[in-house]
Amino acid sequence: MKLDKTPDAPAPLGQAIEVRDLHKSFGDLEVLKGIDLTVGRGDVVCVIGPSGSGKSTLLRCVNLLAEPTSGTVTVAGTEVTDPDVDIDRVRRRIGMVFQSFNLFPHLTALENLTIAQRRVLRRGKEEAKRIARANLARVGLVDKEQSYPAQLSGGQQQRVAIARALSMDPELMLFDEPTSALDPELVGDVLAVMRSLAQEGMTMLVVTHEMSFAREVADRVVFMDDGVIVEEGTPERVVGDPQHERTRTFLARVL
Ligand code: ADP
Ligand code: MG
Repeated sequence: MKLDKTPDAPAPLGQAIEVRDLHKSFGDLEVLKGIDLTVGRGDVVCVIGPSGSGKSTLLRCVNLLAEPTSGTVTVAGTEVTDPDVDIDRVRRRIGMVFQSFNLFPHLTALENLTIAQRRVLRRGKEEAKRIARANLARVGLVDKEQSYPAQLSGGQQQRVAIARALSMDPELMLFDEPTSALDPELVGDVLAVMRSLAQEGMTMLVVTHEMSFAREVADRVVFMDDGVIVEEGTPERVVGDPQHERTRTFLARVL
């Protein structure tokens, strides 16, 4: 049997995420070339950078959807890259929201929120429903619990996906371009939900091209290019007064 060193309770001290000298290659292609990143508890860190720079791979290495080639990743005091750690138990503590919503099409919004609670957390039916309804209310969709994904707008589907992640009581949330697939008029509602989560103190690592969100909500902005962090700092610094030419070139294209 696998030795399990995963603590059940969150570690009281330390950072939410610590990434040290993280490298990731796919075959000959080195995608992450030594990333160091710390996200404190309750912090919102936005990752920006051109397509192909390794942003998604970084997020996927944090919850081991991608296996790092070398380096360490520590989440809430548990080193997830330690081979003795049960990654499924760590992953449960991390909510992940993708560009594509990945809802079950044959389940209602409510059922999409209860299924993992029941199967993974072994919650009873009524408790799972109660928690699901509370989280649908949190994202402004209390009246949509019986809707199927196809009956919802993209923005509503993404808010269901956020509510689904929240229903698992995550200690931190990873967002990978959560608004990139949405029609422009639907982006605002999703960002508003993310903003309120940030205000509630949720730890969030967010890959986004929404510079106004990064400026208003992020404690820190990280600019990545070609597998490295080129610069990081407050939004005022990185977005408002970038020090590197690569950052300026990127911002000129997205702003
Ligand atoms: P970003 O999210 O910044 O657009 P990604 O992390 O998705 O960048 O990708 C970085 C690079 O890694 C790209 O060149 C991409 O093609 C490559 N890549 C990502 N995932 C895989 C994979 N599973 N297999 C091979 N190459 C991959
Ligand atoms: Mg990506």
